[in-house]
Amino acid sequence: MLAEKVSTEPLMVIDECDSCKACMQLGCPALSWESDRARIEPSQCSGCDVCGQICKAGAIIKYEQADQGAGI
Ligand code: SF4
Ligand code: SF4
Repeated sequence: MLAEKVSTEPLMVIDECDSCKACMQLGCPALSWESDRARIEPSQCSGCDVCGQICKAGAIIKYEQADQGAGI
């Protein structure tokens, strides 16, 4: 049986961000606001995916998903 893999990789914000700012309410130090969308500072992101789970636009993804061609 496979143990669930817990990611510690940082996440990133892609173009799908609709500027709702829901993720900014978390107060995560890795999240900042840059012109019209959220940005994640990789060096401060633990990869907890809390922001990814509240982003209804699906704009917060793992780098490995981006490598697989998710819309950047
Ligand atoms: S929750 Fe998602 S869509 Fe909303 S600002 Fe954050 S990244 Fe953008
Ligand atoms: S994945 Fe967790 S640590 Fe990284 S930006 Fe989102 S809420 Fe912050």
